Amino acid sequence: MIGRAFSQRAWERGYRTAVARAFGTVPHYREMWAEAGARKQEPAPTPATRLEALLGRLHPLGAPYDRRREEPPWIGEPAELLEALRLTGAYRGERPLFEVRGALLDWRRLGRARYHVLLDADAEVADPGVREAGLRAFRAEPEPALLGDPGQLTDSPEHPGRPRRFLRIPLAGLDAHGHVLHDRLLGYLGGHHRGCRRIHLNWRRVHVRETPEGPLFTLLRRRRPTLVGISVPGIAPLAVELCREHGTPVLTASRTAS
Ligand SMILES: [Zn+2]
Repeated sequence: MIGRAFSQRAWERGYRTAVARAFGTVPHYREMWAEAGARKQEPAPTPATRLEALLGRLHPLGAPYDRRREEPPWIGEPAELLEALRLTGAYRGERPLFEVRGALLDWRRLGRARYHVLLDADAEVADPGVREAGLRAFRAEPEPALLGDPGQLTDSPEHPGRPRRFLRIPLAGLDAHGHVLHDRLLGYLGGHHRGCRRIHLNWRRVHVRETPEGPLFTLLRRRRPTLVGISVPGIAPLAVELCREHGTPVLTASRTAS
């Protein structure tokens, strides 16, 4: 899974394609050309803090976001989570996954495994029985996997067996002893591999461009919303390198940072 097929040139080509599609079809990016009065090669950085306000302009022309019909826009798809988990080298998709979240999600499967939401303590639910049902399903599984933020898992729900725990790693804290790299708006971006101990990007879906202003993230496959050249305020400088062991891109604290 971690992939021998990586090619830097193909990765850059994928990025170029995503940028061209954004400039061609998505209002927020098209306006950058209008503002510049010229066809730009690179999109101006869009701070992640603006994404929610920009949401209505991040979908392709002719297929605008419809709040009533679509999933919340920042969730992504199950394959993004599954691939990030596999990048840890500790999850092969065999264990049912219980993800601690603040709201329910209409997913049922993660590849071959079942997927469940465990509502966190802050979740607002009309029916408290929903949270209880999640906990019962969790305890009924002999070998579940449990995913959440470190804070959410400090009081892990009791389980008679040995659940395997996976922690989310925020972009702002790459040093954390976590497993899957996650951003609230960008979604699941990669995984901390237990063998090489490096944070592997899911390069099939995520491109990172280093700039003097910081790393810019592009989601290569996601169109709704289209996220191209996104900066994440408040994170330390990051560099993209190739893992010596696996030959695929890893995120690391930038060498220029002191
Ligand atoms: Zn590696």
